[in-house]
Amino acid sequence: MLGFVRIGCLLAGLFFLSQRALAEPEVRHTVSFPKDREQIILVRSEFPVSLPMTELFMPNWTPGAYRIKDYAANVNRISAAFGDGTELSLQKISKDHWQVNTPQAGTLVVEYEVYTPTVKPTTSWASRSFSLINGASVFLYSPQTKYMPQRLKIISDATRGELFSAMRAAPDGDGYRVNNYDELVDNPVAVARAPSYRFTHNAQDYVLLNVGENEFWDGQLAAEDVEKIVAETQSFWGTNPLNRPYWFLNFIVEAKGGLEHDHSTVIMTGRRQMRNRDDYIEWLGVVAHEFFHVWNVRNMRPVELAQYDYQHEQYTSQLWLAEGLTSYYDNLLLSRAGLITPSEYMELLADDIYRLETTPGRLLQPVSEASLDAWIRHYQPNSNLLNSSISYYTKGAVIGFVIDTYLRKTSKGRHDLDEVMRKMYDLYSSQPYDDQAFENLLVDVGGVEAGLLLRSLLTTTTDPDIDGALDWYGLELDRGAIAPTLEPEEEPVSAPSDLGVLWDEDEPGLVVNAVFDGSGGAAAGLIPGDEILAIGDERLTKETLGSLMTSFSPGEETALLISRRGKIISLDIKMDIAIPDHFEILLKSDFNKRDIKRLQNLLGQDPRKQH
Ligand SMILES: [Zn+2]
Repeated sequence: MLGFVRIGCLLAGLFFLSQRALAEPEVRHTVSFPKDREQIILVRSEFPVSLPMTELFMPNWTPGAYRIKDYAANVNRISAAFGDGTELSLQKISKDHWQVNTPQAGTLVVEYEVYTPTVKPTTSWASRSFSLINGASVFLYSPQTKYMPQRLKIISDATRGELFSAMRAAPDGDGYRVNNYDELVDNPVAVARAPSYRFTHNAQDYVLLNVGENEFWDGQLAAEDVEKIVAETQSFWGTNPLNRPYWFLNFIVEAKGGLEHDHSTVIMTGRRQMRNRDDYIEWLGVVAHEFFHVWNVRNMRPVELAQYDYQHEQYTSQLWLAEGLTSYYDNLLLSRAGLITPSEYMELLADDIYRLETTPGRLLQPVSEASLDAWIRHYQPNSNLLNSSISYYTKGAVIGFVIDTYLRKTSKGRHDLDEVMRKMYDLYSSQPYDDQAFENLLVDVGGVEAGLLLRSLLTTTTDPDIDGALDWYGLELDRGAIAPTLEPEEEPVSAPSDLGVLWDEDEPGLVVNAVFDGSGGAAAGLIPGDEILAIGDERLTKETLGSLMTSFSPGEETALLISRRGKIISLDIKMDIAIPDHFEILLKSDFNKRDIKRLQNLLGQDPRKQH
């Protein structure tokens, strides 16, 4: 848009203008893959230049994943030339920034290769079996041409498969063409031989692409379930911001996670994810989560994320809303879509409460602060994270449940959180919201007290009144074994004991991943990385852990033999009470018809229903 106006009108008459309009300046990116190397993307970008110096930047992060990833670390063999082939000197001046002398107007051609280190939704991957192009990790931009149309051509032979993307095809049929660099970044491309499943809901087209579909994955069934999520989410919001087909780019490649975009999402999952009910529910939850983001975070954004700055952190205190409330609704919409039973929903809610209440860091850091720390803590956790911070996903989801229940309870069912979310969207899909917006709307719907409750949940470390919220539905939480009080003359009570640590799941042995502050393990001097070899005079392994922990009583003293950086050390430890491995939501003894009705309104199905 900018380029069109600047070039045409001052210099020439109408005829010339119309000729230029046909050749509107654009940045042209061409991607190809070398035949002799895996994990490499070759990029050739052509920038129209008009200034004596052209600045080029490689993004440091991608929207939706709040962590500096330094994509420039994977950029190699970069060179610059004029369109006529004359070499130009290109100088790197900081980790993510290059300058090229471009003494005359014309086309700057920059060529480089991008190494793709890992298979993740937030970066790119190039291999013969499948490739993923995530724009922020691949394409340079220059501030002068960032708002120009960008054309993308991907040269790939048939053995690598077809191209799949929500990106708009160029009107002339030559590759893809988008309005600006933001759109280039927002439309990942899959290159693969993969089946796709199409469906239409309320005149909106959708495609589920299953890269890596195998004998453990029923593509048709998955597509039918995705359609149910789509239908439920569309009806939740009641408005459709999509203007072209939406793509679920699902990579069944033994990786995890999802990343939202305006008209697509990249999801990664395990090869046998569909074989186990809990794992499949987890995948459905990711689908629901990413699709909910079309509204909450893509089209309705905190003011700090209104314009993306690809080079720097963009701090917002609102990730409890953008991510946390999305996490509240992802499971809830699965229930309302009939994809999980009420009891499966209750297990997921109990899991969120469990994760919240077994994280000591919730007592140190309010969730609004945790949101600011996304950049330094949550996307790159250190082993003290559980003692120092709380996940805005987990606490945000629990806050969603508590606030939703508060609204339903105080209004006798006339108001709920759904209404606040829709009002937020009405107001803030056309303009970004500030950190008071949600609270103000909540006060409009639920009164001053609702606003005060929210503020307290966001800015203090006071635990949400979960029991009170559950009670309104006739439910109660079983938190498992309660610590017995040992009188000196009493025999030790048989209760599960523990060391007060978390284990590193990736290690074959019993290696400590984190130590709970205040635990027996902390007092004994255990630190992350310690491998526990024996307890008392018995060898401790993953296989014997369960039985040996129950053979000790909480409070009992014993010795641990550990290996720390190759040195064998003995430590004295006082055994802890084990944290239960899960919480359970139960019906109260006086559970009645009124509770059934309340739960039915929340869950979209009869709570007594069994599938
Ligand atoms: Zn999310």
